[in-house]
Amino acid sequence: MEEQEKSLNFIEQIVEKDLAEGVNNGRIQTRFPPEPNGYLHIGHVKAICMDFGIAEKYNGVCNLRFDDTNPAKEDTEYVETIERDIAWLGFKWGKIFYASDYFQQLYDLAIRFIKQGKAYVDEQTAEQIAEQKGTPTEPGVASPYRDRPIEENLRLFEAMQRGEIEEGKMVLRAKIDMANPNMHFRDPIMYRIITSHPHHRTGTKWKVYPMYDFAHGQSDYFEGVTHSICTLEFEVHRPLYDYFLDQITGENFAGLSPYGPDYRPKQREFNRLNITYTVMSKRKMLQLVKEGLVAGWDDPRMPTVCGLRRRGYTPKAIRDFMDRIGYTKVEGMIDQGLLEHTIREDLKETAPRVCGIFDPVKLVITNYEGEGETLVAENIDGHEELGTREIRFGKELWIERGDFLEEADNKFYRLSPGGREVRLKSSYIIQATGCEKDADGNITTVYATYDPDSKSGTEGGNRKTKATINWVECKSAVDAEVRLYDRLFAVENPSAEEGDFRDLLNPDSLKVVTAKVEASLAKAQQGDHFQLLKQGYFVVDDDTKPGHLVLNRTCSLKDNYLK
Ligand code: ATP
Ligand code: MG
Repeated sequence: MEEQEKSLNFIEQIVEKDLAEGVNNGRIQTRFPPEPNGYLHIGHVKAICMDFGIAEKYNGVCNLRFDDTNPAKEDTEYVETIERDIAWLGFKWGKIFYASDYFQQLYDLAIRFIKQGKAYVDEQTAEQIAEQKGTPTEPGVASPYRDRPIEENLRLFEAMQRGEIEEGKMVLRAKIDMANPNMHFRDPIMYRIITSHPHHRTGTKWKVYPMYDFAHGQSDYFEGVTHSICTLEFEVHRPLYDYFLDQITGENFAGLSPYGPDYRPKQREFNRLNITYTVMSKRKMLQLVKEGLVAGWDDPRMPTVCGLRRRGYTPKAIRDFMDRIGYTKVEGMIDQGLLEHTIREDLKETAPRVCGIFDPVKLVITNYEGEGETLVAENIDGHEELGTREIRFGKELWIERGDFLEEADNKFYRLSPGGREVRLKSSYIIQATGCEKDADGNITTVYATYDPDSKSGTEGGNRKTKATINWVECKSAVDAEVRLYDRLFAVENPSAEEGDFRDLLNPDSLKVVTAKVEASLAKAQQGDHFQLLKQGYFVVDDDTKPGHLVLNRTCSLKDNYLK
């Protein structure tokens, strides 16, 4: 219904056109191809929603493929967390593949290229190769090794794989065109030697590893991917993606796919996600983690999926956010406020309201007799269907220090001796009578009287006051460690600034306070969401243990996001 009314994004339009034209026999297959060299961040989620979303919408399949061609940076730890995060977001992959599954096929393909005179072994340094690349307006210079005999190329490439050549001493390059206006065609590197790090899956079996450009398109092809969707920075790689496929499809069909000579995957690109006040790069995030500048990949200030989860974001809110920003071909920056807006919209409907006092001062109700009583409060005001909870009331309560003023003018509606009547949230009406101070003049106790006939939920409960304040009964109150988070970076676009991005961290991104919270929170479980009245939305942190409650502020109540 709402789904159908929404206009198609440009990738969906391409897919529908392909379907209408019977391209690839109407088969739809996508993949999400993370490199297991870090944790997933919210930028990846944009790609995930696209890759899995297209497959879901058009009865196709989306596989998960780990792009594990650089053993120096990759690890099984990352493979596991990537799977966990995708599952948490609520997506289901068809199969799990690894680029390393194709190392033999890719190697054989490289040998085939060499035999066809389409690849050669270069012995120059990386610097020399870079220098010879030329510029977009000037052609490059051919390597002195470019015209080596085929047999020599074969012998050397096999020696590279046997581990007889030192890392960095030789590479295999595609022999294409050193004058091509697309720099990626100027004899791109296909293979390099890595012997310093074992691969997390294949160990030391391989000494040569394929580069992205040679591995990605071929992996898509081996798997039968029809739509290879990625971000805009790969647009300039697309001709090379097609070039390598041209060598094994159509009239050059090499029998490497069950789908026949006419099948080929097509690469399409959309704009990356960038969000203000954060960075969107695994490399930079890894640096923050390694140097202890954040508490880990799942630090609630991090834009990682696990960080967002720990911050209190829900999969629904994150997917909602992706829906709102959409997919285009134009790079831009998304306001962090929009992300907060979507989680606020979600929690507004679902998070039970509870009381927590952040800067407590004791309130004594002088005319209250007895051991106290149990009251009933709605989880969300005006939504009886969302349940109620019990709250403890008694003679001594914690209230916010700022809700009492010893001397106040008549614009102050909260507690002040001789001042107005004030309702205690979900309970009685009180009136302040005075206070007590320590030697330094700090208020230690506030005194008030209550009206026993003003209880919420009774007839007297309908009596209006100008102000309602929050409170927590002293004897039953629970201490909570409350972590108040703010933006990780102090500037809007840390990646655009000169100098070291670590110098741009917001020094006030974490503040910890101990709050007095109502007893119902003692039963809260890790991951439970609450609104602490007047304070914001909070989630029970993973660090919570019996007797030690930790709450993370997900977002404040104020929505500054301008639509
Ligand atoms: P990073 O630069 O953070 O390391 P990456 O692009 O190298 O990211 P990969 O693991 O190679 O990370 O990415 C897997 C997929 O996620 C790719 O298809 C990539 O295009 C996509 N992706 C990565 N970052 C973003 C982003 N900010 N917005 C949208 N898609 C992204
Ligand atoms: Mg990458």
